[in-house]
Amino acid sequence: MRNNDMLEDVLRQIGQRERFVLTSHARPDGDAVGSALACCQVLRAMGKHADVILHDGVPRIYRSLPFADQVVQADRVKDGYEAAIILECDSIHRTRLEGLEDRFLISIDHHVSGRPFAHVNWIDPHAVATAEMVFRLAREADVKFSPEIATCLYTALMTDTGSFMFQGTNENTFALARELVLAGADPALCARSIYFAHSIAKLRLLGEALRNLSIEGHIGYFWVTKKQMERCDAREEDCEGLVNYVLSIGGVEAAAFFRELENGRYRVSLRSKGKIDVARVAECFGGGGHECASGCSVDGPLAHSVRQVIMQLRHGPSVQ
Ligand code: 5GP
Repeated sequence: MRNNDMLEDVLRQIGQRERFVLTSHARPDGDAVGSALACCQVLRAMGKHADVILHDGVPRIYRSLPFADQVVQADRVKDGYEAAIILECDSIHRTRLEGLEDRFLISIDHHVSGRPFAHVNWIDPHAVATAEMVFRLAREADVKFSPEIATCLYTALMTDTGSFMFQGTNENTFALARELVLAGADPALCARSIYFAHSIAKLRLLGEALRNLSIEGHIGYFWVTKKQMERCDAREEDCEGLVNYVLSIGGVEAAAFFRELENGRYRVSLRSKGKIDVARVAECFGGGGHECASGCSVDGPLAHSVRQVIMQLRHGPSVQ
């Protein structure tokens, strides 16, 4: 199906229902939170009942977004919703929410690794962020872009493009950013809330991780253990973006960050400057994402998981 047909199908399905729950993947990032919050406002503007439920709630740095305080943190979706819109997520499983299976499911996602798991799947890997798709949905539905919708979408766009630096950022991205600024998003304020609002624990954790920094050829990596997390009083969300510090090193083409989990496995964040396709590396381990930003979980012990992932990064797929 063509992109416009998929969008029309999504709008048709929305038109036939009244009560929606919106969600995204666990450990939500800026695109997940911003797109869900914006889409919720778009649905309300269309006269629908809509709530956002996130398994892990809203991470601290996104809490100043409009309507973030209305997001429900829960393990389960209560009865009473006719449909669920799952944004920026490639499976029910990754939402970590129970109770979604029995509803009519609409998936809106821009990942290359996006899978058609819902009843209606609008997957557009050419969109730089899911926020771009929510923008198109709102425009097609003739919803006015309020400053609140614009702020949520701009924050999602800014974070998912790495502040307009990642591969894939193009003239359309800036055209979209322009529209959002015209609609009332304040770029300096959005950037300040995200990039100048770190917790002390996060910076302490970065210090711990940097002590473990290794470079092998054009691959850089570091890790943190559960003990280091505890020592820094750091939470899961304090790990977001740490991998970018490794990628910032000259000569490093791809970077990996390993975080020890409760179950002895390791959560891996992968980033690339563009030559190495890290989505395909993550897929080798059951994860996914984009060419330049992806993630997966691997079995421990640490040395074993590091070896496997670094081997794939060094000898695995490069961008076509
Ligand atoms: P992060 O490193 O920030 O956790 O994830 C980077 C990107 O990869 C995000 O777009 C995220 O949605 C995606 N990603 C991370 N982990 C997984 C995973 O386990 N499965 C899939 N399909 N995508 C993932």
